[in-house]
Amino acid sequence: MSFTVKFWGVRGSLPSAPTPNEWIYHIEGVIRNFFASGYREPSQFSKFMATVDESTIGGFGTATTCVEVKSGKSQIIIDGGSGIRNLSESIMMGTSGRVKGPFHILMTHFHWDHVIGLPFFTPHFIPGVEIHYYAVQKDLEKLIRGIFSKPYFPVPFEELKSHIHFHVLEPRKAFVINDFTVTPYLLDHPDACWGYKIEANGKAYAHCVDTEATRVSPEEMGEDLPLYQNVDLMYFDAQYTLPELAEKANWGHSAAQVGLEIALREKIKNIIFTHHDPGARIENLMDLQRQTAEYFEALKKDSADCTPNTESQHSDHLQWSFAREGLEIKL
Ligand SMILES: [Zn+2]
Ligand SMILES: [Zn+2]
Repeated sequence: MSFTVKFWGVRGSLPSAPTPNEWIYHIEGVIRNFFASGYREPSQFSKFMATVDESTIGGFGTATTCVEVKSGKSQIIIDGGSGIRNLSESIMMGTSGRVKGPFHILMTHFHWDHVIGLPFFTPHFIPGVEIHYYAVQKDLEKLIRGIFSKPYFPVPFEELKSHIHFHVLEPRKAFVINDFTVTPYLLDHPDACWGYKIEANGKAYAHCVDTEATRVSPEEMGEDLPLYQNVDLMYFDAQYTLPELAEKANWGHSAAQVGLEIALREKIKNIIFTHHDPGARIENLMDLQRQTAEYFEALKKDSADCTPNTESQHSDHLQWSFAREGLEIKL
């Protein structure tokens, strides 16, 4: 049986929507594109839509990090950025407030963009619901309690109606949540941030956000190398362009080009770039996609020249794309 990974929040650092003027600029561009493509009638709009990438029309999303990994038997949530609010709404839909759970929430680290949505995860307030938090950080319980505290949030932790459990994890030691095996590995970020490898039914998802990926070679990655090995889908921090990455050393975020090099070397099958910069508008991200495509073509050419029968074959099969809110991938 397969499992699915759904991306509920893909922004980095801060929830960020285009301003009204930026929307007007974008909508004008879409309309110009419609006519430039030879369409004339409003009734042809859905036909036009079918020819373009959804992100070029609706953008990539505004909410910060939240990912859902789901199989037939179980569900894991990674981080509670503002994207967890829409996940919560989908969980609550049609239940008349009688959700069952249990819910399993893995925390990578506790920067604002990864916790800001947690108070809006409605199951916290439902009597009897079991919620399990997991993190390598030893002060997990104190950190979560701090999020539900006045004056930052009106309902203190002690008044939550659900049963909340805390599990402090051993670095690089696998543990089991129903049919998933989960292993935390260290990423490269200013405050320690732990990525997760989630495996089930012979498939593997690697969650590599937030990371600058300063350790790139297998030797540098050392005991964290398994995070990137035998992976079907890697979710990778690509907040910056290459020039920005050089300017923002030690800010803790990476670039798509770095992820592509790791994915090619480790024969990762699919890579999704995420943690979009709060200042990046739709046009900026489309431009970043173009830069990534050019870099990928150059990499493919290089690997074909060097080793015509191995890496070049893998580069032909490597898929990559930029995350947008609501994207769902089946493994
Ligand atoms: Zn972040
Ligand atoms: Zn961070």
